[in-house]
Amino acid sequence: MLSTMQDVPLTVTRILVHGTVVHGKSTVTTWTGEGEPQRRTFRETGLRAVRLANALRDGLGVERGDRVATLMWNNAEHLEAYLAVPAMGAVLHTLNLRLPADQLTFIVNHAADRVVLVNGSLLPLLAPLLPHLEPVEHLVVVGPGDRSVLDGCRPAVHDYEELIGGRPTTYAWPELDEREAAAMCYTSGTTGDPKGVVYSHRSIYLHSLQVTTAESMGLDSHDRTLPVVPMFHVNAWGLPHAAFMAGINMIMPDRFLQPAPLAEMIERLRPTHAAAVPTIWQGLLAELTARPRDVSSLKQVTIGGSACPPALMKAFDEQLGVRLCHAWGMTETSPLGTVAQAPAGLGPEEEWAYRITQGRFPASVEARLIGPDGSVMPWDGASAGELEVRGPWIAGAYYGGAGQEPLRPEDKFSPDGWLRTGDVGVISEDGYLTLTDRAKDVIKSGGEWISSVDLENHLMAHPDVAEAAVVAVPDERWGERPLATVVLKPGATTGYAALRDFLEGRVAHWQVPERWALVEAVPKTSVGKFDKKVLRKSYADGKLDVTRL
Ligand code: ADP
Repeated sequence: MLSTMQDVPLTVTRILVHGTVVHGKSTVTTWTGEGEPQRRTFRETGLRAVRLANALRDGLGVERGDRVATLMWNNAEHLEAYLAVPAMGAVLHTLNLRLPADQLTFIVNHAADRVVLVNGSLLPLLAPLLPHLEPVEHLVVVGPGDRSVLDGCRPAVHDYEELIGGRPTTYAWPELDEREAAAMCYTSGTTGDPKGVVYSHRSIYLHSLQVTTAESMGLDSHDRTLPVVPMFHVNAWGLPHAAFMAGINMIMPDRFLQPAPLAEMIERLRPTHAAAVPTIWQGLLAELTARPRDVSSLKQVTIGGSACPPALMKAFDEQLGVRLCHAWGMTETSPLGTVAQAPAGLGPEEEWAYRITQGRFPASVEARLIGPDGSVMPWDGASAGELEVRGPWIAGAYYGGAGQEPLRPEDKFSPDGWLRTGDVGVISEDGYLTLTDRAKDVIKSGGEWISSVDLENHLMAHPDVAEAAVVAVPDERWGERPLATVVLKPGATTGYAALRDFLEGRVAHWQVPERWALVEAVPKTSVGKFDKKVLRKSYADGKLDVTRL
């Protein structure tokens, strides 16, 4: 028997219209470095988004299904594109501005982007690629920047404000199917070519609802959120669309992502929430320790993208009174998978045990662990396996290219359609996930597995250690052994033997690394995670000064 309910598509168009009208007074504030930040209301932003939709259709000939790319920082204009492009039935393709040139070129061509909206400050990065970006017909330059680098380039060049200026503030929105493509984002290509994940209107709508729930980020129009996580890193973890849905005020850092301006931004604009990967918070902690600022406005900070060292969480608790909330997700999961909000009724110590997990699954994300023999493991907090997930905002395939079938590589999708995450861990009886490693980062030592994350977390709890990354390196006797690379805090002189002794007793004796190297900084990926691929290569190329204890 069918229900008697209306079947109304869940679309970004609805989010745009709703935010503009009902949350018209909420604001988006973009940091400008010097002087006053730029402030706009959601009403102004929504109307400018409508103008942009008109400009894209009438000025540039963008049609339903066409890809419109952005190469932009987190700012108000980027938010306008987030709303306008999907609402008009086109597909927003956010480009990761930190990718190497060959990968960016691959991605633009693979997605066949017809239009690129680009911040003026990023033109020097884009200009040399243009001869290789065949599908691109139009460049729309947003904000100041030296445009002479575009002289003689093939795509037509437009100024954003001139393009949208004077356009109508109404638009006859198309009737969209909620399963149509709304946005796309490529994985950062840690292995092989980047792979395109295409989000639907429905997946974005449902994910946005989840972002606003108390079991995730719990945000509404009383909040001011500071997404430090870039809008090209899985849609800034869903915050922009969620903001327009729930009226969450936004503080956009633009290109000012260094610890000092972030600290100033927090003190002056007083966000109640912020989101970023652990390396950003490490940097901010060091900055705030050296030059204290008032960050008391922050009620909660969402931290994820890679494992949050418990020592960092503790330091934020104790030194700054700011609660870091751990979350896990991927490009393929929109990205909200788990969020570590502790269950009710616990004391601080019991709560802590939950807070340092990756968090709990929401109703919409089903999870299972697949053990080494291919069987489904119990949720008992001890049985480890590879995490597989499914749900309405989880990818079921990758984009195959224009006119091509979607791709379902066997190592990424199970025969029955679940996403294979490549993450290894355990799940407790009450649904909290603890990851021990990425499958490809686990250290396989003499038939036993060593968690690189576990070693890193212990090392980063040492008072003299700023950062530590542990990778597997080949070993004649054990197959693989851990190599610990360590960044010491300024002025610290702790030696390897002391660090080794620090680990003894904290992990099993056979897990303690015998290979050690001091490095100036741990190499980072385009989204600020430890780049273990680079570390492994440096080791293989003999570029690390390794001491064997
Ligand atoms: P990439 O795979 O290119 O790094 P993603 O941002 O999609 O791009 O990365 C997703 C991966 O990041 C996850 O599969 C997981 O390995 C890691 N990750 C994300 N959040 C966490 C977390 N809280 N703890 C541990 N690992 C995490």
